[in-house]
Amino acid sequence: MDKETAQKSELSTDYKLQKKAWQHEILFTCVTIVLAGLVGLSFDQFFWGILTGVIISHGVTLYRLYGLFRWSQQQARAPQDSGLIGYSVDAIVRRERRLSKKIKRQKKQLKRIAEGVESLQDGVLFIDQSGHISNFNRAACHLLGLKADSDKGQHITNLLRAPRFVKYFNKANYREPIELESPYRANLMVQVQVMKFGADQKVIIVRDITERQRVETMRQNFIADVSHELRTPLTVISGYLEMLGDAELNTATARVIHQMTGQAERMNHLVNDLLHLSKLESNNSGIGNAWFAFKPFCIASIDQLKTYTPLSSNGEALPAAIIDCDFCHSSELNNSVADIEIYGFKEEFTSVITNLITNAIKYGHKEGQAAEVVISAQRTALGLEIAIKDNGEGIAEHHLERLTERFYRVDESRESTVGGSGLGLAIVRHALGHHDAQLKIDSVLGQGSCFSFVIPNERIRQKDNNEGKIKSAKRKSRRKK
Ligand code: ADP
Repeated sequence: MDKETAQKSELSTDYKLQKKAWQHEILFTCVTIVLAGLVGLSFDQFFWGILTGVIISHGVTLYRLYGLFRWSQQQARAPQDSGLIGYSVDAIVRRERRLSKKIKRQKKQLKRIAEGVESLQDGVLFIDQSGHISNFNRAACHLLGLKADSDKGQHITNLLRAPRFVKYFNKANYREPIELESPYRANLMVQVQVMKFGADQKVIIVRDITERQRVETMRQNFIADVSHELRTPLTVISGYLEMLGDAELNTATARVIHQMTGQAERMNHLVNDLLHLSKLESNNSGIGNAWFAFKPFCIASIDQLKTYTPLSSNGEALPAAIIDCDFCHSSELNNSVADIEIYGFKEEFTSVITNLITNAIKYGHKEGQAAEVVISAQRTALGLEIAIKDNGEGIAEHHLERLTERFYRVDESRESTVGGSGLGLAIVRHALGHHDAQLKIDSVLGQGSCFSFVIPNERIRQKDNNEGKIKSAKRKSRRKK
């Protein structure tokens, strides 16, 4: 019998029992009153007979209710009754049995879940609305050094005090996990991910990533060492090629030397980019941050690239790009963008801007025309938004997600002439990560691309113009004297 049929037959049995209980109740009351009325009639006291009948039936009902009351107080056994009281007692008993079965089942399930959480190799912590730890598993003890008996009920930031974690926990933006050293053991690296559930409660997952980090560091060191070792032979080769380039050679040999010089330059570029990237990947300490003025920095970066000549896909030199930067020409004092200072790594920021502008120049032209590059910046609610736009061929949507991967290229065929190392956007992504920013790429095929990012408010400030005014006032007064 399936569940639905069983439920239906249970309902119909219940309905029959209910009907019988009501019939019994009404029958008992009516028979008692009628009998008492008849006895009263035989004594010519019909009214008193009926009244006595009502009182008797009421008395019996009260007595049965008393039995029900004693049962509810657990002072007596359940009353055996075929009327409404008996039916209600049966229904309550049946419901109680069903409930206790359900509770038993759920207890078992809960126990199994708790055992599962306990057996996990990742630490799991449950945090209540106010940030206090309500429970955690054994792995959390091993990874964070928590004590099962004394640390429950403590505020999480009292136990995980690393400033990065406190900032992450309080910021309530848990999209990305963070990695930090465990407070329990030096050299134990953990990844911490907070997740929200229920009414503002949280689960924290703690994962041991020591081994992964070790392998990653090994990989970075390997790349850095290989790149470093390649530098010396490359310099020697480039030197000899330069020497040969100056010598008097026949046309065929000169062409070979020219091609070899080009390839050596590419390799040099690649080695430099690899070294740059591994330096960026290994520098997570935040050392080297300083305030620098945004506008002069941009002007210097653009000036450096003004002489850069892009190549077309068949290797011909194209006209120099037209670079437009609206805020660079603004002389207004208190201009909200021109006066901005950024707190960051100037060197890394240079590689972001240079790589994005170089790409816009390289890929932002159409059919032999000069690329038009527009650099713009504006204050938004989130911070300083910087965008680099070109009107080139654009990038198909399915490439966009993978563009910042190392060595990813849209069009392999043109990379030998137009492209660089394929590491440019990977460098940009890493460098922006050090500035709490993310690269956003918008592109429409045939219409060009826009690469933008937002430097958050915490990393920008308005330059104090008073300082400048005081200096120029001092200069003027000195001149007068
Ligand atoms: P590369 O050093 O080869 O230029 P990048 O990492 O800087 O490598 O860029 C990756 C790929 O993204 C490039 O090979 C190119 O195909 C594409 N790309 C980057 N910038 C642009 C742009 N402004 N317009 C069109 N394609 C671009």
